[in-house]
Amino acid sequence: MFKKILIANRGEIACRVAATARRLAIRTVAVYSDADAHANHVRACDESVHLGGSAPKDSYLRWEKIIAAAKATGAQAVHPGYGFLSENEDFAKACAEAGLVFIGPPAEAILAMGLKAESKRLMEKAGVPLVPGYHGAEQGAQLLQREADRIGYPALIKASAGGGGKGMRIVEKSEDFAAALASCQREAINSFGSDAVLIEKYVQRPRHIEIQVFGDTHGNYVYLFERDCSVQRRHQKVLEEAPAPGMPEAMRRQMGEAAVNAARAVNYVGAGTVEFIVEQTGGYDQPEAMKFYFMEMNTRLQVEHPVTEAITGLDLVEWQLRVAAGEPLPLAQEQLQIHGHAIEARICAENPDNNFLPATGTLQVYRKPAQHSAFERSPVRVDDGVRQGGEISPFYDSMIAKLIVHGATRAEALARLDAALAEVHIVGVQTNVQFLRGVLATESFAQARLDTALIERERAVLFDREPLGLPLAVAAAVTQQILGEWPQSQRSGPATGFARRDGWRALGTYSRPFAFEFHGEPVNALLRYEGDGGLHLTVGEGDAAVAGPLAVGQFPDGRIELAFNGGRHALNVYLLQEQAHVFAPQGATRITPVDRLAHAGDTQAEGGRLTAPMPGKVVSFAVKAGDSVTKGQPLAVMEAMKMEHTIAAPADGTVQELLYAPGDQVTEGAELLRLAAAQ
Ligand code: ADP
Ligand code: ADP
Ligand code: MG
Repeated sequence: MFKKILIANRGEIACRVAATARRLAIRTVAVYSDADAHANHVRACDESVHLGGSAPKDSYLRWEKIIAAAKATGAQAVHPGYGFLSENEDFAKACAEAGLVFIGPPAEAILAMGLKAESKRLMEKAGVPLVPGYHGAEQGAQLLQREADRIGYPALIKASAGGGGKGMRIVEKSEDFAAALASCQREAINSFGSDAVLIEKYVQRPRHIEIQVFGDTHGNYVYLFERDCSVQRRHQKVLEEAPAPGMPEAMRRQMGEAAVNAARAVNYVGAGTVEFIVEQTGGYDQPEAMKFYFMEMNTRLQVEHPVTEAITGLDLVEWQLRVAAGEPLPLAQEQLQIHGHAIEARICAENPDNNFLPATGTLQVYRKPAQHSAFERSPVRVDDGVRQGGEISPFYDSMIAKLIVHGATRAEALARLDAALAEVHIVGVQTNVQFLRGVLATESFAQARLDTALIERERAVLFDREPLGLPLAVAAAVTQQILGEWPQSQRSGPATGFARRDGWRALGTYSRPFAFEFHGEPVNALLRYEGDGGLHLTVGEGDAAVAGPLAVGQFPDGRIELAFNGGRHALNVYLLQEQAHVFAPQGATRITPVDRLAHAGDTQAEGGRLTAPMPGKVVSFAVKAGDSVTKGQPLAVMEAMKMEHTIAAPADGTVQELLYAPGDQVTEGAELLRLAAAQ
């Protein structure tokens, strides 16, 4: 076995590889770009080498630098991860020439499978079933049109060198073919440097089912069963599961053997995936009528490999390392078994409601499910390469983390995934977490009526959803705000009696207005402090208003607790970027508190904060409730760090209430008094 390897990648997959290497007592070398100087994958390795600028072409794709780094650090082998150089046969060759083991297939196998058209010609010879189509070398426009007409419509034009869901065009009818071909060729030459295409029958309502294969240098091959990756957006996988629901045992064996034949045909070594498109000729309820066709082979470890690890109990990176070191495959086909069901969700920085546009930003809050382990077989596994405070930069993939769950049955795994997603709190970067929960909740997914159009079909329930609703969102934001104003000792929840502030009773019943923006709409709320210490909240106005008692409290772990409108809720609320980010078991939402004063008249008021600028003691108030004040007029005096600070009015208005009494200790940010701005 190797003593030291270099990991030529970043993010979660670099961390993933490093974890197995550590377990096997193999030392690791990380490489990194400027943007990744402090990244997790650098910390996960024993040594690191800087490659260059943040753009991949200046760092993770500079293979001469990577090989030099491996030589300089004494690494014996290079793990390429996925993406970047993992399917670059020149890199694999250069590693060999430098005396380094490339942890992947031989360069010839990468080359043979690298172009979709050529790999189809090979597979045809090996007797692997293909989608009806054209994958010839001749590329004249007229010939391609004739072939498409022969195959029939809808047809799919694919860039032969394509990948990552790019370079594909669906053509509905013969008249549209020429224009679609031209546009596909343009994209192909720009993205992949070659305009060669192939044409396939466009399979209706297909499933994407792929087979994990492994080969060693001794001529042994096994298949590690299938993964269903039918749930896709823009031809890219979103949810992956193993085994494929409803897969008949005979078909599993046929597909597994076809995949092994495909691997054998190119003398494959290491981990690979043979992707099949599966036609459901008998509908969802007749899995025995499924027909499978070879689509392409990915000559690397795949993003979704953890679901296979979960159902087989194996570490595929360990297998990769053993095979690369010349060991035989650890197990034979008959020793492999499927246990239970696993599902993976890709958590991506993107906006599902805006056509999945990738998002960037700082992970101001990044919280994972409480019960999880990294890179290991456990019911909830999180593979990631980021931490709270880190940046999701525009340079790399938008995937933030993978959440992988395992259960005895599909239903158990599904429920566990939903519960785990509910515990993922990300603030600062838009993500698809709520969207993923929406997909899990669809009838189609729950009933395993899978095909690549699932998301399209369920459009109506998947986009522009609001999982919490206005009354709860407002109640949460109001609760968060008022709890922040109370001393810690008085925040205990409804279970232990309502928190209250002594000041209220002295002042009797009074009302406090709140204003918010929710999904772009203004919302008003009114909180009434009752004489008995209770609270009453009205959300909205007129007939649409929702009103009732509000009970609030806080758990020691920071969650807020509230009872309102017939429900009792335990929530996390993060006040960041001037928004309240509310996370509840049933979903998450955002609501923006609107500072009425800041929006009234002149907002240039300097030093006009009504909140405590630091922790300290209230010395005195210069005003009382009902007083009219003018902008700049002193309102209160605070003492902190042995200095007095005067809090002045930010605008003209009327004092509505004093929220503390002289002598009270307040925390930073506590609101000291309420003003109603003059109209
Ligand atoms: P999987 O490995 O599960 O099939 P993807 O298809 O998303 O996952 O590919 C894995 C990674 O490789 C992603 O980061 C993707 O962006 C990248 N990738 C795959 N093929 C290409 C390609 N031809 N060009 C650029 N990036 C690619
Ligand atoms: P990539 O290299 O981008 O992964 P693939 O050839 O693997 O390209 O196809 C990506 C996805 O496109 C598949 O998972 C499937 O959803 C869809 N697809 C590919 N070929 C067909 C086809 N012939 N009919 C219908 N859908 C297809
Ligand atoms: Mg593919």
